[in-house]
Amino acid sequence: MTSNQYDLAILGGGPGGYVAAIRAAQLGMKVVVVEREALGGICANWGCIPTKALLRSAELIELLEHAGELGVNVDGVRPNFGRCVERSREIAKRQEKGVEFLFKKNKIEHRRATGTLERSPDGRPRIVTPDGPIDAKNVIVATGARPKPLPLPSGPVEHDGRRIISYREAMSLPVQPDRIVIIGAGAIGVEFAYFYNAVGTKVTLIEALPQLLPVEDAEVAATLERSFKRSGIEVLTGAKVAGVAKQEIGVRVDAIDNNGTARPIEADVCLLAVGVRGNTDGFGLEALGVALDRGFIAVDRTTFATNVPGLYAIGDVVGPPMLAHKASAEGIACVEAMAGKRHHGDIDYDSIPGCTYARPEVASVGLTEKRAKELGLDYKVGRFPFKASGKAMAASETDGFVKVILGAKHGEILGAHLIGGAATDMVATLTLAKTAELTSDELLSTIFAHPTFAEAIKESVADAYGEAIDI
Ligand code: NAD
Repeated sequence: MTSNQYDLAILGGGPGGYVAAIRAAQLGMKVVVVEREALGGICANWGCIPTKALLRSAELIELLEHAGELGVNVDGVRPNFGRCVERSREIAKRQEKGVEFLFKKNKIEHRRATGTLERSPDGRPRIVTPDGPIDAKNVIVATGARPKPLPLPSGPVEHDGRRIISYREAMSLPVQPDRIVIIGAGAIGVEFAYFYNAVGTKVTLIEALPQLLPVEDAEVAATLERSFKRSGIEVLTGAKVAGVAKQEIGVRVDAIDNNGTARPIEADVCLLAVGVRGNTDGFGLEALGVALDRGFIAVDRTTFATNVPGLYAIGDVVGPPMLAHKASAEGIACVEAMAGKRHHGDIDYDSIPGCTYARPEVASVGLTEKRAKELGLDYKVGRFPFKASGKAMAASETDGFVKVILGAKHGEILGAHLIGGAATDMVATLTLAKTAELTSDELLSTIFAHPTFAEAIKESVADAYGEAIDI
């Protein structure tokens, strides 16, 4: 047996693992990826991309329903749930094929198998599949995360895939439910609430914390909640779930609203979206003696090395934020460090944008105002509402605003929060500004094209100094 047949073996082919594989191949490594399901992982197959396909359908339905205002009469918009799901699955399949193509192009091997970790006779960590061990100089664990059950005093409520479902079933139900109750208003809960409401399902969204998207700025969350309520979604924030019971048909959720009133909710299905946990169990980490930190694999944030020589970890298994782009950035940083070819510095964890793709879209980078206050920072706030933007008016997308939190002394971006049309693309400009440590002077001396949604960025910065032109 040839030892060290590969330079790198990766366990998991999601946006952490597959991106690391491609970058490693570019750097001249011989790479194998062990992935039991489709390449591309949750992101390409059961997350980011297929949900965006569903949300595009939802957006179109909403636009058509209001097309009359824009001088286009559309009679009888009839959502076709089956086709929405079918198209979303087709796009997931295309994504998988796309990653397979990239693997061929980069001469990366894909072993479609369940891998476990063990120590090889020479003491190094290695991946084993039913076909035998894979010898490699280095191993990266990129096994992602899975949905958490709902903890209740009577015991955890687990997903059953039929009436108590996770995102996977929520994006591939064979029949459209008449009523859905969603527990948890993080990105998953909010995105599915928007989709199901748009296709005509009665949606109840329950969140334990006082606002939707609790990681986002409170003003953004309040705007989203108003928009959701206006569009007919029943929103219960600051609510408790006392029980989830499967009925003969459907499910009953016993909620207690923020006034302490019992709110029994009957629905066909319950989407449980109360967060995810890293896949750190059941494949040999314990036996190798890999150190964990609060349930995640402990790694060095420059090299992504674990405490076991030759073993690295990236993505959801090393902790939040559990986002595809963060996993990919870690994959690239890890293999570049491994090859001794890291040209950029360490990942700036304070400048990772987060996006939620409902309509209005929500996006942010950096600190919320609440957090800036808690940290005792000296800051200024600027805001610009889209109702004052010519482009947003013309596009009939006036819901929302851009809010920036700037250091009082130098005008650097501490945080930026956007809600409205194009928010998830516009956050890139603010992320660049934050990463490059630009100040308000530089943003204000940059000329933004007119008319664009992005002008709201410059105007929000100007507003922090009382210099906004259009408000
Ligand atoms: P999350 O942790 O973002 O949100 C879970 C929500 O459930 C929280 O708001 C929490 O307060 C709430 N919750 C917890 N227990 C509850 C209870 N008993 N009753 C009511 N509410 C309760 O997790 P998620 O939305 O499940 O998403 C999982 C991961 O996937 C996250 O890391 C998320 O960022 C990521 N994701 C990202 C995107 C995106 O970037 N657009 C989309 C989907 C998922």
